[in-house]
Amino acid sequence: MRKVKLLAFTLMVFSAMQSCKDKDNLQEVVQVPEPQKEEKAAPLGNPDDVKAEAGPFKIARLGYAYDALAPHIDAKTMEVHYSKHYKKYTDELNKAVTGTALENKTIEEILKTLDMENKAVRNNGGGYYNHTLFWEIMAPNAGGAPKGAIADAINKDFGSFDAFKTQFTEAATKQFGSGWAWLVVDKDGKLIIGSTPNQDNPLMPGAGISGTPVLGLDVWEHAYYLNYQNKRPDYINAFYNVINWDAVAKKYDAAVAKK
Ligand code: MN
Repeated sequence: MRKVKLLAFTLMVFSAMQSCKDKDNLQEVVQVPEPQKEEKAAPLGNPDDVKAEAGPFKIARLGYAYDALAPHIDAKTMEVHYSKHYKKYTDELNKAVTGTALENKTIEEILKTLDMENKAVRNNGGGYYNHTLFWEIMAPNAGGAPKGAIADAINKDFGSFDAFKTQFTEAATKQFGSGWAWLVVDKDGKLIIGSTPNQDNPLMPGAGISGTPVLGLDVWEHAYYLNYQNKRPDYINAFYNVINWDAVAKKYDAAVAKK
């Protein structure tokens, strides 16, 4: 009889231990992970601190803070675009021209007479020129409609400002892969719209569209992917809110005066 009691007691203890173990297991399964410490975004840099490596071409001053075009173009995109991509094009262009006959030419002279087989200058010289123009034709609290001579020319050459926007949007949307959409003064002083792949531009021989760019839109994914992902049309629509038409007008007036 005593043996039976002992056995029963042993079983009870054993079963209690099992149940504890099960509880522990259960706890392990449903255990909620420790809340992750929130990663703080690194503070934005100062665009004025970005300098080119040695060479004839300098980083053009941005003229506004990285977050000045938000929400249309977000601060992080602007910072990476200006301090990394643009700097890289500038540094690589400097490397490519230093010690060559191109060293003392302006970027416009280099591109207009470019040997398109010179890939280092084509890609980086194009990248340098295109982005330098891009920073200039955007501004905070800008957008709206152009005024003055360029507004008249847009109405004359496209029918209306809305018709211009439709055509420019289409060029920017349909550029397959990386490239740029352009508003250009052609050899007759007429405004035309087109696009180019990669870092090509209308100054280069045989680029498909020829003339003096007065407005350019970067449609490389690095220009919008952080904020817009695959939605390039949303980025293009947002761009109209940051176009600095005063800067575009100056470029237009200068291009027409040369005709
Ligand atoms: Mn770019």
